Amino acid sequence: MSEIKLSEVERIKIESNYLRGNIVEDLANPITAGVSEDNQQLMKLHGSYQQQDRDLDEERRKQKLEPLYSFLIRVRVPGGVATAKQWLDIDKLADIYGNPTIKLTTRQAFELHGVVKRKLRATINGINKTLLDTLAACGDVNRNVMSSANPWESEVHQQVYNDARALHTDLSPQTTAYHEIWVGDELVAGGEKKEDFEPLYGKTYLPRKFKVAIAIPPRNDVDVYANDLGFIAIAENGKLLGYNILAGGGMGMTFGIETTYPRLGNLIGFVKPEYVVEAAKAVIIWQRDNGNRSDRKNARLKYTIDRLGLNIFKNAIRTALGDKLEEARPFHFDSNGDKYGWEKGFNGKWYFTLYVEGGKVKNDHKLQLKTALQEIAQNHTGNFILTGNQNLVIADVEEADKAKIEKLLEKWKLNKHFGGMRRNSLACVALPLCGMAFAEAERYLPSLVDKIEVELKALHIEEEDIILRMTGCPNGCARPYLGEIGLVGKSPGKYNLYLGAGFTGNRLNKLYAELLSEEEILAALRPILADYASNRNNAERFGDFVVRKGYVNATIEGLQFHKDIKPFQK
Ligand code: SF4
Repeated sequence: MSEIKLSEVERIKIESNYLRGNIVEDLANPITAGVSEDNQQLMKLHGSYQQQDRDLDEERRKQKLEPLYSFLIRVRVPGGVATAKQWLDIDKLADIYGNPTIKLTTRQAFELHGVVKRKLRATINGINKTLLDTLAACGDVNRNVMSSANPWESEVHQQVYNDARALHTDLSPQTTAYHEIWVGDELVAGGEKKEDFEPLYGKTYLPRKFKVAIAIPPRNDVDVYANDLGFIAIAENGKLLGYNILAGGGMGMTFGIETTYPRLGNLIGFVKPEYVVEAAKAVIIWQRDNGNRSDRKNARLKYTIDRLGLNIFKNAIRTALGDKLEEARPFHFDSNGDKYGWEKGFNGKWYFTLYVEGGKVKNDHKLQLKTALQEIAQNHTGNFILTGNQNLVIADVEEADKAKIEKLLEKWKLNKHFGGMRRNSLACVALPLCGMAFAEAERYLPSLVDKIEVELKALHIEEEDIILRMTGCPNGCARPYLGEIGLVGKSPGKYNLYLGAGFTGNRLNKLYAELLSEEEILAALRPILADYASNRNNAERFGDFVVRKGYVNATIEGLQFHKDIKPFQK
C-alpha cells in the first residue's frame, strides 16, 4: 500500500514539540517584521495570524521593502461573556498595541489588528492579565465555544452557558508552550525543554479547525448548523433536559474545487447535560483519527463524514457513548438573529443589545463607538456579551443604573433604529488585512446596504428582516452561505451572489449569479425584491420566497451545493 503523504502543516505540528517551534527566536529576529512560514502556522494555535497591509503592497514593492507585516490577535471569550473591566483592558490594549480598533467576531471573540511583531508578546501577555486568553483561538484545534447570547435570559440559558464554559475548558489544549512563550516571566527558547502531553489531541492536534456552538431554541443566534459540532438545548417547563447533537457543519469552500462545499450539521442524537463534554470528545477523537491529514481542503469533519459515510460516523459515536446517546428530541427555531433593545433577565437585571456594524468598534466621523463604549464600561458594573452576530449586549444593568446607561446610549446615539437588512447583516474583515481576500467586505458592506435600502424603502419593505452576509473570499468567516442573500468576493469589486438560505439558519443558499459589480448586484436584486414586496405570502421570509418562486433551488445537503444551479442572464 502506498504511504499517504502528510500535508506540510502536519510536519510542522509534529516537529514543533507541542507548538513551540522556534517562535521565541523568530519573535526576537530584528531582520524582518514577519515570522517564518512554519511559525505562522504554529502561531495560529496560539491565537495569532500574520497579516500584511495589502493597500500598501505596491508602494512598498516599488521601494524594495518587504510587505508591511503585522499580526491579528484573537481573544477567546467563551459564550462571549466579558466583564466591563475586561472590556476596558482590551480597549486599552487595542490603543497601545493595535490599530486601534476592536473587531467583534462572528464567533463571540475579540480581535485586535495591526499589532507589530515586537509588541506581540506584550499584547498577549496583557490579554492573559485580563484573565482572557488567545490559546486555540485559531488553528487545528477546538476554537472559542459559542453559546446563545444571554446567559441571564433564563435559568436554562445560565446552565447552557456553564456547559459552554465546561466545553471550553475540557477541549482546550494542554501544552505549556503557550504559557512559556507569552505569559511566563522568563522566556524559554523553543526545542527540548518541556515534556508535554496532549491527552485529547496528541502531538498533531486535529487535521483542521474545529468549531463548537450551543443554541437554545427558538433562537439560533449562533448558527448552530454551521459548526463542526453543534448542540441544541432541549428544555421542558424551564428545565434543561439535555442537548441534541449536530455534527459535520462548516462554511468554507474553494472556488473552482467542487469537492469543497459548505455543509449543515446532521442531527445524530441527544445526550443529557452531564454527558455533553464526553459526547464532544467522542466526536473530536473520531475526527482526530479519521480526518484527512494530506489535503487540508478536505480535512474538516464535514468531509470526513461524507467520505466515510454518516452511518459509520454515527455508529462510532454510538459505540463510544453507548446508552448515553439517545434519540434526538423535537425542537423548533424561529430566527438566527439577535433581539435588539432592552430585555429583562430572570435575575431582575437589564440587558441592552446594540447593533455594531460589521462588528467594528472604532471612532469615525459618523459614530464615536469606541469612546462611547469606554464611557459605558466605566459607568457599568456588569458584563458585556459578544453575540454570534457581531453585536454587543450591555449586560447585568441594575434597575437603579438603567436610566444612567440609557442616558449614555442617548448621548452617543447608540439607541438608533436600523433597517431590517442592515440589522441582519454580517461582514468579515477581508481587505486590507486578510491575505485570503479577493474583494472588500466590512469596509464596503455599509455603503452597499445604503444603496439597497433605497430600493427597499421604495418598495416599503425596509423593515423586513432579510439576512445579508458578505465575505471577501469563499472561506466563509461571516457564514455567507447562510445568508438569504450571500455575497462572496471573487475578484476586486466583483462578487458571487447566492440566494435562498433559511431564515433560521437551517438551509444553505445557492449560487444565483457570478462576478457581479455593485451595479450588477443592484440590478440583479431589484426585480427579485420588487417581486417579494408584491407577491410574498403572509410572513413569508425572503429566503423561502426566492426558493418558492424558483429563483434558486433549495439546498439542504452540502453535496448538492454546486448542483442544480440555474443559468443567470446578466
Ligand atoms: Fe479573510 Fe475570506 Fe475569512 Fe473574509 S472570509 S476574513 S476574506 S479568509
